[in-house]
Amino acid sequence: MTKWVYGFDQVEEAEVFCENDWDTVRGLLGGKGANLGDMTRIGVPVPPGFTISTAACNAYLQSDGVMPADLLDQVSSALKKIEKASGKQFGDTANPLLVSCRSGAKFSMPGMMDTVLNIGLNDSVVEGLIPLTDDPHFVYDSYRRLVQMFGSVVLGVRDEPFEAVLAAYRQKRDVAEDSDLSADDLRAITGEFKQIVERFSGRPFPDDPFEQLRLAIEAVFRSWDGKRARDYRNAAKIPHDLGTAVNIQTMVFGNMGLNSATGVAMSRNATTGESGLEGDYLTNAQGEDVVAGIRATKPMTELAKEMPEIYTQYETIAQSLERHYRDMQDMEFTIERGTLWILQTRNGKRTAQAAVKIAVDMAEEGLIGRDEAVQRISPEQVEFFLHPSFTPESKQEALDAGRHLTTALNVSPGAAVGVIAFDADLAEEWAQSGRSVVMVRPETKPDDVHGMLAAEGILTTRGGRTSHAALVARQFGKPAVVGANDLEIDLSERTMKVGNETINEGEWISIDGTTGEVFSGKLETRTPDLENPALRRLLEWADDVRDIGVWANADHPADAELARSYGAEGIGLVRTEHMFFDPERLPIVQRMIMATSPSERTEALAQLLPFQRRDFTGLFRAMDGLPVTIRLIDPPLHEFLPSYEEITADLADLKIQLLSARSLPEVDQLLVRVESAEHLLHEVEALREANPMLGLRGVRLGLMMPALTRMQVRAIFEAAIAVKRDGVSVHPKIMIPLVAHVNELARQRASLEEEAALVMNETGVDIDYQFGTMIEIPRAALTARQIVEHAEFVSFGTNDLTQMTYGISRDDAEKAFLVKYLEEGILDRNPFASIDEEGVGRLMSIAVREGRAARPGLEAGICGEHGGDPASIAFCRSLGLDYVSCSPPRVPVARLAAAQAALRDAAPTDISEMVPV
Ligand code: PEP
Ligand code: MG
Repeated sequence: MTKWVYGFDQVEEAEVFCENDWDTVRGLLGGKGANLGDMTRIGVPVPPGFTISTAACNAYLQSDGVMPADLLDQVSSALKKIEKASGKQFGDTANPLLVSCRSGAKFSMPGMMDTVLNIGLNDSVVEGLIPLTDDPHFVYDSYRRLVQMFGSVVLGVRDEPFEAVLAAYRQKRDVAEDSDLSADDLRAITGEFKQIVERFSGRPFPDDPFEQLRLAIEAVFRSWDGKRARDYRNAAKIPHDLGTAVNIQTMVFGNMGLNSATGVAMSRNATTGESGLEGDYLTNAQGEDVVAGIRATKPMTELAKEMPEIYTQYETIAQSLERHYRDMQDMEFTIERGTLWILQTRNGKRTAQAAVKIAVDMAEEGLIGRDEAVQRISPEQVEFFLHPSFTPESKQEALDAGRHLTTALNVSPGAAVGVIAFDADLAEEWAQSGRSVVMVRPETKPDDVHGMLAAEGILTTRGGRTSHAALVARQFGKPAVVGANDLEIDLSERTMKVGNETINEGEWISIDGTTGEVFSGKLETRTPDLENPALRRLLEWADDVRDIGVWANADHPADAELARSYGAEGIGLVRTEHMFFDPERLPIVQRMIMATSPSERTEALAQLLPFQRRDFTGLFRAMDGLPVTIRLIDPPLHEFLPSYEEITADLADLKIQLLSARSLPEVDQLLVRVESAEHLLHEVEALREANPMLGLRGVRLGLMMPALTRMQVRAIFEAAIAVKRDGVSVHPKIMIPLVAHVNELARQRASLEEEAALVMNETGVDIDYQFGTMIEIPRAALTARQIVEHAEFVSFGTNDLTQMTYGISRDDAEKAFLVKYLEEGILDRNPFASIDEEGVGRLMSIAVREGRAARPGLEAGICGEHGGDPASIAFCRSLGLDYVSCSPPRVPVARLAAAQAALRDAAPTDISEMVPV
């Protein structure tokens, strides 16, 4: 005989049947049933009851609605046991037992299936119950609830006719709430409800309690196959063949007078993580009243005053449930005439801040280990923690007021509020005058960086996750939303259109780079809690188990300091070209590029030298004692000049002006301008390339224009010597980019080392330095054996390495076909966000293995965007890299992700158990 029914006190039997596998028990009894059994076992006051297994549901559904043989017999014996335990009897008029009938699948599907409460009431039971409770109001209220619920859930009657009757009575009696209606009214309403049931379902409300129960069980079984539940399972990827269990449980009532109550409370605060009960309850009410939100609930602190003993008992139970489940619990409870019952418990949902505090506190209380605390927090939770966000109130207000403009790609987290500036110069000018600015552009270019730095946040209407705007924004920790193609910018009118709405430059806008939302107007933000002691603690524990370094990509001393305060152990990439875009320097850089003689170039470089020296001095001081990897100039030089299109347009304009010039001085003046524009055009034409990404850049530039990279090396060494004299411990690592062939590296290095030696000789100070290279071209990876003869370290530039391995230009692809590729499953993830392990990863693996064979102990790291991606971090660790380097705001995330990778390796754990946000 199949055992379909398990009493809450029979959880051990279910365990034996399931060969002591708790997951299988949850499959058999459903999550709620297994939990009720488990709570009963540890002595929590759970109203007695039993669970009908998921197997019974499946048998019922498979046989097209025939109840399995003996199921009803087993239900009746289980009922008898409850009757014995409670001293009450089902259908008895003298001391009746009422039960609830609830669904409960293996995985929680909140609100998707059916529930019927108060089963067991009929006209004669009601008459018996009234003298017993001395509360006709409560009795009729329970009865009308049963008829209504039974009618809608079991017999499929719509809610409206029931609600219409209630509304009519409320109006007639001039009361706001159903609970204010009199017992007589409720009795009359119950009668009307019965008529509604019969009229709309074609069958009378069943008087026989057992019949009520049987029909309710069948309704719950069927609700597994309902549309709502199917849709939910499709979305939540829950298999359709699991079936639901059904829990039949003694009803306890929170609406039996002022010593009764019902509520929901967490064992700790779900918003802040503080210890102590947090929740709400209602005196003299049923569970649905709390959920419905019609009556104002009271905080648990009130319960401590109203029913102090119950409160203390509840606290003790909450603690024991926490100890048992080793996590914060979310519990439903009912107090029936001074007796506390726990109806349900589950791991509570919580904010990122609460998750961190709870994990750390629980580890300190000895409830869980430190490693487990580290594993319970997801990298996204740490990230969330670190950025400003809109206050929920102001966001709601903006939503209500219809100020949500669009939601686009959330490429750099955090909320930003400012006035709209449509170009970088204006953004900078306004920011310098003390205004908060959000820079809004169709897309950004390298010469927009000063505006991006000055702005609070960046919004672009084009571009993808690794567009220039996204990259720079992440690099500088600026909130950014990109690809907002619902917005139409008109740069000549200085306006932005969304649907029918037009927004002008200078008006307020609020963007959330964590969610991708864009609002018009000014939302309130709350600042991140970087000094949060719990987070610091958790990350220290992460560092204890982490076995791969975490460095940062930073170009300015302030970023380096920030990175260091977040726990960076070095700088893995300084993109020196970013320093050239400063408005003070750009004209000198342009003069240097367009120099017509070596002396002119030398002069421009001499002017740049002090700037670069100052940059490096600041970085070295900020990173005192830690390595700083400085990459020599990488991009093609045309990026520092106006675009070809811009100059030709200017030139055409000047020529038209020339034709209509009226005086000789005017002609003279215009001719000078034409000449200078022609010279510029000539230079730009000379530098123009069909594929700049594959053109004159990186080491090639250093070889063609040696004076430029020699100036950079001189600046590095002069800065290093200066700070060393001040007692700073300085360890520069000079990194040569975009090497494809060993000869490029050998020749460039020889020239640079000469310069380094010159500076050290001039000053008589030695510096502890290294030369190394980026591996960002497949050929370099494949020939690592030769490359490392001239490199003391290598760093994977996985941005370029991915582009070159795929033969895909990142910016072009993300604007165009890459999204389609991902949508259609041609690629299952964006290789620019997470390392393509099979392709790019294979090249990395060859380079590490062969590089270390040729140069044992070779230091290898990564400084591409992937260095901040948790999956890529785990991969880099598996390759044996020494460090990952990422943008400063991702440093804490990387510390956690690296620790989790180490822990997963040490003892595989089920990360599906990780607490969701
Ligand atoms: C890279 O290619 O991964 C890299 C770090 O260099 P960049 O992104 O500056 O080209
Ligand atoms: Mg690169």
